[in-house]
Amino acid sequence: MNQQQFENFTASSLYCEKCRVAMPVRERLLLVLPDREIFDYLCTGCGSSVGRREVTAGEKMLAQAMTARTRRAPVSIPLR
Ligand SMILES: [Zn+2]
Repeated sequence: MNQQQFENFTASSLYCEKCRVAMPVRERLLLVLPDREIFDYLCTGCGSSVGRREVTAGEKMLAQAMTARTRRAPVSIPLR
């Protein structure tokens, strides 16, 4: 198995019907819609699709906001 395939993992493993065992999966951007993005999970063993995930625009913005919050220093806003 190629180690480079593991670089972009977000989900750890899903059950693959073809391999009949829980396999490490690779996330692939399948479709971009105006309000959401659909990701496909591919089995690293046989390459078949084992699951899907939808990320809505709201979830994406929330994730970006949380990332920005952890990276930036807190900004103090004067009350007067
Ligand atoms: Zn498989």
